[in-house]
Amino acid sequence: MISDLVIIGGGASGFMGAITAVQSGLRSVVILESTLKVLEKVRISGGGRCNLTNSCWDISNLVNNYPRGEKQLIGLFNRFSTIDAYDWFQKRGLPLKVEKDGRVFPSSDSSYDVIKCLFNEANDLGVKVFTNSHVKQVIRIDDGFNVLVKGSNYYKAKNILICTGGHPSGRRLAKSLGHSIIPPVPSLFSFSTAENEIKTCSGITLDVQVRLTVNNKKYSETGSILVTHKGFSGPVILRLSAFCARNLYANNYKCELKINWLCMKENEVRSKIDLYKLENVKKLVLKNKPFSKLPKRLWKALLLSVGIDCQLKWADLSKCEEELLVKCLTNKRFSVISRGPFGEEFVTAGGVSLKEINFKTMESKICKGLFFAGEVLDIDGITGGFNFQHCWTSAWVAGNSVV
Ligand SMILES: Cc1cc2nc3c(=O)[nH]c(=O)nc-3n(C[C@H](O)[C@H](O)[C@H](O)COP(=O)(O)OP(=O)(O)OC[C@H]3O[C@@H](n4cnc5c(N)ncnc54)[C@H](O)[C@@H]3O)c2cc1C
Repeated sequence: MISDLVIIGGGASGFMGAITAVQSGLRSVVILESTLKVLEKVRISGGGRCNLTNSCWDISNLVNNYPRGEKQLIGLFNRFSTIDAYDWFQKRGLPLKVEKDGRVFPSSDSSYDVIKCLFNEANDLGVKVFTNSHVKQVIRIDDGFNVLVKGSNYYKAKNILICTGGHPSGRRLAKSLGHSIIPPVPSLFSFSTAENEIKTCSGITLDVQVRLTVNNKKYSETGSILVTHKGFSGPVILRLSAFCARNLYANNYKCELKINWLCMKENEVRSKIDLYKLENVKKLVLKNKPFSKLPKRLWKALLLSVGIDCQLKWADLSKCEEELLVKCLTNKRFSVISRGPFGEEFVTAGGVSLKEINFKTMESKICKGLFFAGEVLDIDGITGGFNFQHCWTSAWVAGNSVV
């Protein structure tokens, strides 16, 4: 028997693609999954809570969260965006909540509820799911495709949707069908630095905005930062790592990182210090800081890093020391020496080249009847639910287009 659609990969994209394909009129839809469990990444995502989308409803802002795929996603999001994903799950009985930073989670804080929602919907629609079915080859035949599964089983399909995520086998299948692959590199990681000066501040999260610059302004980001025992992490670092993913990979994860702890200009910081100095002449520099939002531990570490004595009073701060302090607050340099561990989320930058995809349908421009969705493509987002969102969107468009 020949299926209307065989989907390779039982992850977020695979399930969304299958559900929409049946709802748009396809009769026989099959999902083939390598492992014994489907939707495994959904389960572990968001620390077990599954950050399934983001409340960034405005499409022009939304696409800024994608270092790769930004342009192509504009059209796709115009058809199925964050608000559509939000409604899609709510309408299927999954209550959602939006956190302060815009991340959307199931109200239960359990990724199992997202799995249940997708799995039950697919099951009710008659999608056939086969686990332990690793696809090793796809062969083009006259009226469709032969899909060879490990263990010499094979399926016939009129159409194929590849949803294999960051797994290399999906890229191999795409290549064998004529597609070019942008080499995969990691994204969304923390930075390890050579310096020890502020490691005493490990664990501190600066919820104020800091401004980071990598390799002399080539990349610059603003946001909240976390000091770790090896270097830095937190939303702004993960965002920077995503936007610099290729450049950092090419430089073996070595670069110069500059931090403006106050997100202020040098002259503004200088004026603020001058004024504070006049009003606090007899007070200790260590115990009295002009910048209330800077944590005490970090203030101390920064003073020590420029050699300012803990017993110094504001009246005794020399012009030269003040200048060192201003520079340290606005332009502190660190040598990044390696990639640190991944945060809660990890994705691959790279994948099937976007030039060879028709973004109105997600169909290959090279091989008719072949579709792609999700992380297998050279599209990735920063943390915050943006990675699942592009999976829901591309799979929804693919599922609606196959028919
Ligand atoms: C720890 C972690 C936490 C994350 N948390 C979040 C989060 O909270 N929010 C967010 O937006 N993103 C998160 N992400 C990213 C998100 O999980 C991925 O972007 C998303 O799962 C990609 O979905 P996909 O369907 O394209 O691929 P996947 O979910 O990777 O699914 C691909 C499936 O295909 C199967 N497969 C591969 N090759 C074959 C083959 N040859 N034959 C058959 N089957 C095959 C795989 O076994 C897998 O089940 C997280 C990632 C990680 C690693």
